[in-house]
Amino acid sequence: MGKKTIFLGAHTSISGGLYKAIEEGEKLGCTTIQIFTKSSRSWHASKLKEENILKFKETQKKSNIKTIIAHTSYLINIGSPNKDTEKKSIDALKLELERCQDLEIPYLVLHPGAHLKSGEEKCLEQISKNLDFVLKNASGKTMILLETTAGQGTNVGYKFEHLKEIRDKAKEKKKIGTCLDTCHIFSAGYDISTPTEYKKVIQTFDKIIGLKNLKAIHLNDSKTNLNSRKDQHENIGKGYIPLKTFSLIMNDKRLKKIPKILETPVKKVDEHKVEIDLLKDMVK
Ligand code: FE
Ligand code: FE
Ligand code: ZN
Repeated sequence: MGKKTIFLGAHTSISGGLYKAIEEGEKLGCTTIQIFTKSSRSWHASKLKEENILKFKETQKKSNIKTIIAHTSYLINIGSPNKDTEKKSIDALKLELERCQDLEIPYLVLHPGAHLKSGEEKCLEQISKNLDFVLKNASGKTMILLETTAGQGTNVGYKFEHLKEIRDKAKEKKKIGTCLDTCHIFSAGYDISTPTEYKKVIQTFDKIIGLKNLKAIHLNDSKTNLNSRKDQHENIGKGYIPLKTFSLIMNDKRLKKIPKILETPVKKVDEHKVEIDLLKDMVK
């Protein structure tokens, strides 16, 4: 497997301008990055200016960054039983999708939702319905990627079946894909700590969701053990997921073309360079 075809990167910062995230990715040696297209802690954002869109696209064109992925705000919960939150979440998701379309970002990662004790089944149905509502009138090509979760609190998405069910019930299937987070699935109880178990988990994913629907991977180690149902990312090689597992992922031919993004804790973003280099060196 040629090293030139590795799709590896990190979540980088847009502070100082959206294009800055691309420059930061370049410095780290990334071929893909993930960004928030707006503040992750707010519902609203003013419309993108044409000059900023152009600058972003031009910077990407000159760079080695092949694929850019966006991640939605953490406030969004389209599965909320609270009507007000649901409405705000739908509007916010629409706005984020439009920003991705303006920036020609192909994938927008979304945490499916939390039911807040109103029941998983109802929540999953509501998520499907709201995804259809948001995607129905969307003009661009951007896909929404449902992220696997650790199942913390009342979050759905900790079972592959949840993501399958959401997608199956939706009409806009072509625009719904999946993002697999290694920390989250491990915390949710999918044992990826040995080659045999890893193989089984990928097979299960393929059987339930289908590898063709896997569009992004978040490479994170976990601060907490298997089945802890906690969402606490750790640096690669420092947590409960063995280094060997990351090597299996980096060398898995089926995952070769899928962008792999680090969301591990760093004080300064250049610290990601260590992990990027470590992961690149694993590729045989
Ligand atoms: Fe996420
Ligand atoms: Fe993630
Ligand atoms: Zn997480």
